[in-house]
Amino acid sequence: MTPMETATQKRLIEAMAGTVIAHAEELTELDQAIGDGDHGLNMKRGFEAVLADADALAARPLPDALKAIGTQLVMKVGGASGPLFGTFFMAFGKDLPAEPGPDDLARAMEAAVSATRARGKSEAGQKTMLDVLVPVLEEMQAAGDDPGGDLPARLKARAASAADATVPMRAVRGRASFLGDRSIGHMDPGARSSSLMIAAVCDVLEG
Ligand code: ADP
Ligand code: MG
Repeated sequence: MTPMETATQKRLIEAMAGTVIAHAEELTELDQAIGDGDHGLNMKRGFEAVLADADALAARPLPDALKAIGTQLVMKVGGASGPLFGTFFMAFGKDLPAEPGPDDLARAMEAAVSATRARGKSEAGQKTMLDVLVPVLEEMQAAGDDPGGDLPARLKARAASAADATVPMRAVRGRASFLGDRSIGHMDPGARSSSLMIAAVCDVLEG
């Protein structure tokens, strides 16, 4: 690990945790509308644990840091989203090279999305976090191994529009599915938290 890599990893961890914690109230409100209102607190608890461990996590090789973040989220977030985001991070780190290129990152994203889908027995189109994660994966795959410097900006925009696109969807997975048609007209909380995390990562990579 070079000091530069450690510093970048720390910025990524702090940015991701920071945005989730700063938006906890909004995530709670989204979950109050179509769930049980705990998504903001669940995610805040998980990312406070990650943040408390930021120095140690930043000093580990990227794949190990991602797996360790996943373990923390499984242990601390709880609800449906804890095991799902935990699985996502663990699978992202699993086969990632220590110094990944764009194609390695796209492959890791594919593995992470597949693992999340399997864990949730869910697909895009069901008004969940996958409605953000899948379009972002597709954007990464389309970009190929020579993505250009504006890829972070494109991924961030794609994540935001994909989260917006969950508003008119009817939930068929998770607690929101109990509401049937009454889940229509609200953004999915997990889609919003996914979009926030992706935006934070992209901002660091851009800046
Ligand atoms: P809980 O629903 O147990 O209260 P949270 O409120 O923390 O858990 O998380 C809710 C979010 O988890 C939803 O907004 C949705 O994005 C995601 N989610 C729930 N079930 C699934 C599933 N089967 N597959 C994918 N995502 C899911
Ligand atoms: Mg909830």
